[in-house]
Amino acid sequence: MFVTRFAPSPTGFLHLGGLRTALFSYVLARSRRGKFILRIEDTDSKRTVPGAAENLASILNIFGLTYDEGPFIQSQRASIYRQHAEKLLDNDAAYRCFCSANTSADTAVKKSGGYDRRCRHISVTTITENLQKNLPYSIRLKIPEGRTSFVDLIHAKLEFANRALDDSILLKSDGLPTYHLANVVDDKLMGVTHILRGEEWIPSTPKHVLLYRAFGWEDSMPKFAHVPLLINKNGQKLSKRHSDVNEKGYLPEALLNFVGMLGFTPPISKEIWLLDDFIEHFNVCHLSKSAAIVSYDQLDRLNRLH
Ligand code: GLU
Repeated sequence: MFVTRFAPSPTGFLHLGGLRTALFSYVLARSRRGKFILRIEDTDSKRTVPGAAENLASILNIFGLTYDEGPFIQSQRASIYRQHAEKLLDNDAAYRCFCSANTSADTAVKKSGGYDRRCRHISVTTITENLQKNLPYSIRLKIPEGRTSFVDLIHAKLEFANRALDDSILLKSDGLPTYHLANVVDDKLMGVTHILRGEEWIPSTPKHVLLYRAFGWEDSMPKFAHVPLLINKNGQKLSKRHSDVNEKGYLPEALLNFVGMLGFTPPISKEIWLLDDFIEHFNVCHLSKSAAIVSYDQLDRLNRLH
């Protein structure tokens, strides 16, 4: 069974890029008679905007992107992630890190962009003593040596030197998961077969591949497709704030038609694209690798045509 998901973080309202990811994920599932899931990734409570999750769910319905399961809310699933992080400790694929938020180690991490791995090498005796003293700890992924690659359905094979990857935190000292852990555990538990998301997530994917391996889930590794960035006419990344889909009063059909053409080269020539047309003709192989330019003139035109 083909399973895709849309997994937004409720850090604001739905923007053009998010709508496009949702549309492509939806039609990918529907075109294969698969399942489409909605998951709200709200593990970073500081960035969560009140009301955003409800807005995301209701807006998908307005656009006709109906989900078969969910919304799953990650903040309500903390115990699942904690159990999984502990499994990784048992497998020696992760380690406890006692460098708490205010230590120099943490400052060093922020400056250099990567954790210096000092807790990776502390002795079992020290770990036991720290646990007896009830010192708080986070759990970090132990990045192995070597290289990690995956085949992206849009970008072909992508390969990374593991030494460039950080031993990322999986579980914070408050017991809550970070994006990497919650995202991978949920994709596995929800049986996701195809992950379609923005290109900005490419640097996270090797870590996710390593997590699948660390859990022994290699056989259910999903396929990845990273869609190109949206840029404005000046070549700048489109700001989320300026592309809020609620804001401008466009017809949902026109907006859907518009975002569906961003980075998608249609296999047939047709001016008006409705949801059913995308379901019929969408294929990941028609997605472009290069950034898509957002032209509001084109959106205005489509809005008049619909
Ligand atoms: N929560 C991430 C976001 O807000 C999702 C990334 C993914 O789809 O894996 O875009």
